[in-house]
Amino acid sequence: MARFDVAVIGGGVAGLWTANALKAKGFSVVLLSKTALGDGQTLAAQGVIHGGSKYALAGKLTDSSEQLAAMPGRWKDALEGKGDVTLQGVTVLSPHQYLWSLPGVTSQVVSFFGSKLMRGRAGSIPREDWPEALQSPHYKGRVFRIDEPVLDPVSVVQRLSAPLKDDCYLGDCSLTGCDGKIDKLTIDGIEIFADKYVFAAGAGNGVLMKQLGITDFQMQLRPLHQLIIRGDLPDFYSVCIGNGPKPPIVTTTHTDSKGRTIWWIGGDIAEAEGVQRSEEEQIAYGRATMKRLMPWINWNSYEFFTARANRAEPFTESGDRPPGAFCRAVGNVLVTWPTKLALAPDLSDQVVAHISGTPDRADAEQLPLKRPETGNPPWNLGD
Ligand SMILES: Cc1cc2nc3c(=O)[nH]c(=O)nc-3n(C[C@H](O)[C@H](O)[C@H](O)COP(=O)(O)OP(=O)(O)OC[C@H]3O[C@@H](n4cnc5c(N)ncnc54)[C@H](O)[C@@H]3O)c2cc1C
Repeated sequence: MARFDVAVIGGGVAGLWTANALKAKGFSVVLLSKTALGDGQTLAAQGVIHGGSKYALAGKLTDSSEQLAAMPGRWKDALEGKGDVTLQGVTVLSPHQYLWSLPGVTSQVVSFFGSKLMRGRAGSIPREDWPEALQSPHYKGRVFRIDEPVLDPVSVVQRLSAPLKDDCYLGDCSLTGCDGKIDKLTIDGIEIFADKYVFAAGAGNGVLMKQLGITDFQMQLRPLHQLIIRGDLPDFYSVCIGNGPKPPIVTTTHTDSKGRTIWWIGGDIAEAEGVQRSEEEQIAYGRATMKRLMPWINWNSYEFFTARANRAEPFTESGDRPPGAFCRAVGNVLVTWPTKLALAPDLSDQVVAHISGTPDRADAEQLPLKRPETGNPPWNLGD
C-alpha cells in the first residue's frame, strides 16, 4: 500500500507537465502509465506550439486562436528555464512556421495574415527568405512567417520525464469507487491511495470514466490518417493556405531512428475523407496532392507511408475540438484533456488551481513496479 497527495494517470504531455508542476509545488506525486511515455497522441504530434494562426485561416480570429495566443510565450519561457516546469535542452526543430498560400487563394485570407490584427503573429517575408522547399520560379503564392515554434515531441517527453524518473510507473490500473470518487487504485497488485486523482490518459480516459461511472460528460475521438514522406527533403515547417477554413496540408520535418528525413503531414488531407481512405488510397491521394500543391518537386523519388492516430477530447455537439484545455472535477477526480500539446501548460495551471492546499507528504514512496520507457513516434517505421 502507498499514499500520495496526487496520483496522475497517463504519461503523455498532459500527465507529465502536470506532475512536474505539482511536484514543484511540493506535492508528492505518482504518475502511472499503461504504455510507454508519450504513446498515443503526444509522440504523434507535429510538435507545433500553436499561437492560433492555423485556426484563423477562415480570415478571422476564433475562440481557438485566442485561447492559444499565449502558448508560444509559455513554452518559450519553459525552454529558457523560467517557471515551475522547465524544458531546457528540448530540441527546437524550428523557431517558426511558414504560412504559404496557394495561387488563386482569395486575397481576403492572404491580406488578413498581413493585417494589423495579426501583427506580431504573422509577417509577410521576401522571396529570398522563403524556405528551400518553396524556392522555385513555379511557385507564385505569398509566404508569411509565424512565431510558433516547432519542438521535437520525443525530446519534450524525455525532458518532462527526467525530473519524474522516481515517480513514474508502468501498468494498467483498476479503480474501485463510484460517482467519480475513487476509494482505491490497484496496479499490479499494489494498492495506491491519493487525495486527488488526475485522469490524463488521453483516449484511455473513456475507460477510466466508465470504471467510475462518470457520466456528466463524454469523450470524443477524432481520428487522423497522416502521411509520411521519406527521402532527401529540406526542412519544411509549414501550413498551406488554401481556399477552405482548414489547411490542405501541414508539414513538419523529423529524423527517424535510422537518421532518415521524413515529412510528417497532417491538415485537411488527414481528416474526414482521409480517415475513410485505405492506406493504399491515402498514399495515392497523397502523391497526387503533393504533385498538385508542389509540382516543382519530383515526388516519384520519395517513399510514401501513412499512419493513423486518434485525438481524444471532451465531447462537443458540433464534433469539433473545444477551444481550450479541459479540466473538470468530479468527486476526488480531475478529468483532463489538453486538446492540444500546446495547451499543456494551460491545463496544468487548471489542475494546480484545483489542488492548491498544503502538501502533506513531500517524500514520494518507491513502489516495486516497472518503470515506463519513452515510446516511439509513428515515423519510426521499423524497416
Ligand atoms: C497526428 C497528431 C498530430 C498532432 N499535432 C499537434 C501539434 O502539432 N500541436 C499541438 O499542440 N497538438 C497536436 N496534437 C494534439 C496533441 O498531440 C494532444 O492534444 C496531446 O498530445 C494529448 O496529450 P495527452 O497527454 O492528453 O494524451 P496522450 O499523449 O494520448 O497520452 C495518454 C497517456 O495515457 C496513458 N494511458 C492510457 N490509458 C491508461 C490507463 N488506463 N492507465 C494509465 N495510463 C493510461 C497512455 O499510455 C499514454 O501514456 C496532435 C495530435 C495528433 C494525433
